[in-house]
Amino acid sequence: MKRFILSSIVAIGFACASSSATEFNDTQYQQIDTLRKNAQHSELSWQLLTSLTTEVGPRLPGTKNDQLAVEWAQAQFHQLGYDKVWIEPATFPNWRRYHESAHIMTPSHQPLHITALGNSISTPKDGLSGEIVLFETLDELIAAPTNSLEGKIAFINYRMNRDIDGNGYGPAVQARNKGAVEAAKKGARGYLMRSVSTSLHRFAHTGGSHYDSEVTKIPTAAVANPDADQLARLISLGHQVSIKMNIQTEDLGEGTSYNVIGEITGTEHPEQYVLIGGHLDSWDLGTGALDDGAGVALTMAAGKLIKDIKRPKRSVRVVLFAAEELGLWGSKAYFSAHKAHLKNIVAAAESDFGADVVYAFESNVHANSLPLVREIAKQLAPLGIEYIGRNQAHGGPDLIPFKQAGSAPIFALHQNGLDYFDYHHTADDTLDKVDPNKLKQNTAAYAVFAFMAADAASTIKAK
Ligand SMILES: [Zn+2]
Repeated sequence: MKRFILSSIVAIGFACASSSATEFNDTQYQQIDTLRKNAQHSELSWQLLTSLTTEVGPRLPGTKNDQLAVEWAQAQFHQLGYDKVWIEPATFPNWRRYHESAHIMTPSHQPLHITALGNSISTPKDGLSGEIVLFETLDELIAAPTNSLEGKIAFINYRMNRDIDGNGYGPAVQARNKGAVEAAKKGARGYLMRSVSTSLHRFAHTGGSHYDSEVTKIPTAAVANPDADQLARLISLGHQVSIKMNIQTEDLGEGTSYNVIGEITGTEHPEQYVLIGGHLDSWDLGTGALDDGAGVALTMAAGKLIKDIKRPKRSVRVVLFAAEELGLWGSKAYFSAHKAHLKNIVAAAESDFGADVVYAFESNVHANSLPLVREIAKQLAPLGIEYIGRNQAHGGPDLIPFKQAGSAPIFALHQNGLDYFDYHHTADDTLDKVDPNKLKQNTAAYAVFAFMAADAASTIKAK
């Protein structure tokens, strides 16, 4: 039995070697090697990230800074020598934050660190006060009796868990997406939630939220983890807890921003392309270094590093999506603008999970393309990246429309996300949280992946 297994493995090994040997020749393997080394030593992604976060800063869609970021990205693509640089419009609900503050009124006066959730309406000018009613989960709030929150402020105390792949985010973010609507259905005047956060610091984490046109809109905010603990403790000690919050925001109607696109044009199949990128916008509180300046900088740098080796057979397109934070608006615009030609995307990967090391590589492609995927994985291994063979990659958030339509081979370069939700969507998302050496490793991973997908003999196919 043992001998049989061994001989099967040897046979499979030979099969892989023979099919992959046709994908790249020796010159290409040398180019991949040089590209990997160059990227590991290049300061370019760090320089781009420093410039974007320092000279532009926060990039809330629709703001003057967002416009500056669009100009910045075009200028950088030109300066890096990209063959084609262009912009495509995307519209989104244009929203502004002007003021946010809160404090506990009873049983004693204490400051609370809150932030309005994106899209929140304002409170009255002098604020909104009410008794806090605590729910541990969104489901508990949904199960509350009708009208039971009349005149009160609903508070969801759900705490997200920390994990390398960020799997705590999905369940926690439900309270951000739907909490205000469910609270209003029960008669609440305001909605407060524990931040979607793994941190112990006292920053509140913002993020997108939604209203339902059939349900009264109420002001909606997130509170920092230690302050959520304080509210929960007061309630568990038997106190009736009242707070006052003051949120001033503005709905400016429909705004327009732009996806910024830079292309290294392929030499044999220029219409086919590898799509890599990130989102150019950020929340307004920090400078969007982790979310998603890093993704922008490292994919821009990867394209330039590839071009310095040679233009591959197929194009490499770096897409910097607009208005991701407000609801993937740039992604939706790109998807509909390119609907007729989505089959030209031979591989797509978005970096939007901070700047810690890439530890794993995973595809979501047609089974016939897996030998090529394994060949790419082998060239990522020297960067400390393991291959996950389940072939179910999700890609980044801006790839959701493409994945849902089954229109592109999707890839994930999984980053270590253990610390990501300590800073995500806070005032603390700043450049000092990024390690330049880890950013280089990310850049090398994207460069090697994109180059190989663009320069292989065969074209990767979608599932
Ligand atoms: Zn992001």
